[in-house]
Amino acid sequence: MNKFAYITLVASLTVVAHTADVTKSVSVSPSVALDRLTNGNSRFMAGRSLHGDQSISARQESAKGQAPFAIVVTCSDSRLSPEIIFDQGIGKLFVVRVAGNTVDDVAMGSIEYAVAALGARTIVVLGHEKCGAVKAAVEGKELPGSIGAVTKPIQEAVDKTSKLPGDHVTSATLENVRDTVRHIRTGSTIVSDLEKKGQLKVVGGKYFLASGKAGLFKVD
Ligand SMILES: [Zn+2]
Repeated sequence: MNKFAYITLVASLTVVAHTADVTKSVSVSPSVALDRLTNGNSRFMAGRSLHGDQSISARQESAKGQAPFAIVVTCSDSRLSPEIIFDQGIGKLFVVRVAGNTVDDVAMGSIEYAVAALGARTIVVLGHEKCGAVKAAVEGKELPGSIGAVTKPIQEAVDKTSKLPGDHVTSATLENVRDTVRHIRTGSTIVSDLEKKGQLKVVGGKYFLASGKAGLFKVD
């Protein structure tokens, strides 16, 4: 990035950070956003998806600016594209995806940008059953290339659940979602300040591949 572009970006981020709690910049409230996601997922499960508005005019309208109503942090797994499983169209979801749905500094910055600049007030961290990243972390084998960087941030969840009864991948998957929610809260004052004021919500979720259900849950 050249110096001018960098200064412009910093200036615009500074402006948006200071206006993060200005009502007019907010997309919709967390309760409205969660209803939209739940209703969209119900349509998808029932095979009655509306697929959002994918018309040329809707696309052209979206080019003027974006105000996604929710941020979805989820796994890169090819079977759980958020726009499909929550039945949403262009411009509705701000998606942060990485195998194992963990959040590093770049992902955290992406989330903060969507909150501060785009007005999103709902963050869903969505894990899923049969997650290859969690399974690899549980198995703990040596991994080639940079794949170890994917499993490393899941390790804490794997260790915390190692003595629990039942399937370890299942319990580690849920714990990893809870860890990621807590990490977003503790790692971002932009997020935690708004959540303390009741203006933003971070929730967890688990996606089931065959039924298509994305069950959302509260994380303390
Ligand atoms: Zn996965």
